[in-house]
Amino acid sequence: AIFGNLSDRLTQTLAGLRSKGKLTPADVDGTVREIRRALLEADVALPVVKDFAAHVRERALGDEVNRALNPAQQVVQIVNEELVRILGGDTRQIEFAKQPPTIIMLAGLQGAGKTTLAGKLAKRLAGEKHTPLLVAADLQRPNAVTQLQVVGQQAGVQVYAPEPGNGVGDPVRVATDAVRFAKDKLHDVVIIDTAGRLGVDQELMKQAADIRRATNPDEVLFVIDAMIGQDAVATANAFQEGVDFTGVVLSKLDGDARGGAALSVAQLTGRPIMYASTGEGLDDFEVFHPDRMAKRILDMGDILSLIEQAQKAFDEDEAMEIAGKLATENFTLDDFLKQMQQLRKAGNFKKMMGMLPGMGQMKEALENFDERELVRTEAIIQSMTKAERQNPKLLNGSRRSRIARGSGRTVTDVNELVKRFEQAAKMMKTVARGGTPQIPGMGPM
Ligand code: GDP
Repeated sequence: AIFGNLSDRLTQTLAGLRSKGKLTPADVDGTVREIRRALLEADVALPVVKDFAAHVRERALGDEVNRALNPAQQVVQIVNEELVRILGGDTRQIEFAKQPPTIIMLAGLQGAGKTTLAGKLAKRLAGEKHTPLLVAADLQRPNAVTQLQVVGQQAGVQVYAPEPGNGVGDPVRVATDAVRFAKDKLHDVVIIDTAGRLGVDQELMKQAADIRRATNPDEVLFVIDAMIGQDAVATANAFQEGVDFTGVVLSKLDGDARGGAALSVAQLTGRPIMYASTGEGLDDFEVFHPDRMAKRILDMGDILSLIEQAQKAFDEDEAMEIAGKLATENFTLDDFLKQMQQLRKAGNFKKMMGMLPGMGQMKEALENFDERELVRTEAIIQSMTKAERQNPKLLNGSRRSRIARGSGRTVTDVNELVKRFEQAAKMMKTVARGGTPQIPGMGPM
């Protein structure tokens, strides 16, 4: 998955805020520390991480969270907004020249995915009724021209390549000739593929800068492999200084790389990420939407519903109400039943509990917990009279066998339920006296 690890870490951290009513500064600091660690482990550049963490911390300690009905959700919202910000804010697409042709130049290291991208972009533009021309200005790699011709054929667009013996070895001339050709033949977009090297070097930068100067492109797209890790920062800086670019294309986002370096590029260069490449096929390509990408990284739907569910299950008011009853030693089977019904309402209880951090020690209890048990318990309690539910001491042998018959269970089942009720009542007493709360209604733990 895209940014899979980072996504898991952030989701877990934020879900950890769950049902907390007010967030203390310690809660916020703990969460921010976890977010920092997750971003660093994902290879996001240090200055970007620092800036991100500082923004989240400041906002999370501020009024917007204090006043929020649900502080945990508000923090998730803040993290989301800050992610959108470092990813570049608004979606930005190609700006077409008023006077065609629109010239788009591609730059980047060898193997970054420029040639493939040229095909993807050409195919998409052709599908949008444009008439793109692909230009093979990568004359370094022996088979680069052929590769572009293959890609052009797949995309169904024309490719301009130097004729043997004419201009070979001079990519600037090929590029300028191609632009003239495009004007003649009414191509409204020109996509220039340039040479890359394995590493950044001066000659490469000069060549790209020369092509840029000679063709005056409307867009210069810097293509960067999302998998190159921390090198992304140095590479992006070198290209910004050497050639400069108007936008970034992240390629190979389909790999399960940590991808965080790619997350740093927009913020560090101040240039928007415009496209994401997600595979070798010409259709594995999408417009980059910072807001959607942030939601994907955060699994927003998941975190928010997790927090909501946790809140339903651990409703504080309800807990206080129950605690109040305990103070008068008046916890009844009706309360017991109500608790269990609440548990069921909380939905996929077991799964939810499993996802919350810190619930490890409850694992065994969860595994032994059977939701059908709730249904059976409900049936038994509903077969009791009002008086019996208020005062379980009335439950003598003959009453128990009547209840067993009425609910389709055995007397042993009824006995067990009464025992569990008594344990729950005892547990409630502990809660009321300030002891460690446990989940009621789940039997002995
Ligand atoms: P260039 O040297 O910058 O022109 O890079 P190429 O376009 O030749 O791509 C280098 C290699 O990466 C090729 O094998 C491509 O098929 C592959 N590639 C390009 N883009 C992607 C992508 O988004 N995902 C994956 N998995 N592979 C890609």
